[in-house]
Amino acid sequence: MNWKGHITLGIIMGLPFISSPEQIFLVVAGALYPDLDHDVKSEIVERGLYISGGLILISILAYLFRPEYFNVGFFIASVFGGLIYIIPYYAKHREITHTFLSLVFSSIILGYLTFKLSVISPIMASLIALIMVTNNNLLGKAVSISVFAWVLYSLISKSIIAFQGLEYFIIPIAIGYLSHLIGDCMTPKGCKLMYPSKHIFRKKEGFFGIVIWLTLVFYVIKIM
Ligand SMILES: [Zn+2]
Repeated sequence: MNWKGHITLGIIMGLPFISSPEQIFLVVAGALYPDLDHDVKSEIVERGLYISGGLILISILAYLFRPEYFNVGFFIASVFGGLIYIIPYYAKHREITHTFLSLVFSSIILGYLTFKLSVISPIMASLIALIMVTNNNLLGKAVSISVFAWVLYSLISKSIIAFQGLEYFIIPIAIGYLSHLIGDCMTPKGCKLMYPSKHIFRKKEGFFGIVIWLTLVFYVIKIM
């Protein structure tokens, strides 16, 4: 599935789980993240590794030579930023990034990072999450589609549920991520969702993924 398909599926599957416009950026970030393992996305991964590596180095230098400037929160955020890119850097296409293990790990890390950045502004923090997984070419398109989707959604529907705190950031990313995995399962190549098991999940299991998503939708409707 290409990026347009992943963004579209991500937005459709993510809408029941969001309550604020900027969360669409998070859904789209989650939907695009797994394909950072693709060679054509290596510039995004390398950019991310250089930036997070630089920020970690700044923290270490501050700790050693200017302890009064050292901030443990900033250091942890920099390390988390690095982890987001280390995984796709070493991954082969449709391997570890296309698994439930990575869904949980990467959604929590990227969600936590965005949560920490949200003290400045939740909108800016969510936009940064999207910037982190896109290049110049893709970013403008991804933002435009996200904003268009929100306008459409706000005209025809209203929010089902409003998550708070960390969940506000992690859940939309995880649902976007899930949509990517389901989308790729539907293609002939399939993916090994249950790593370390080597079983390849295809169309049949993809439909099962949609059932899981529908169950989650009914769950949020029930608890609202
Ligand atoms: Zn993929």
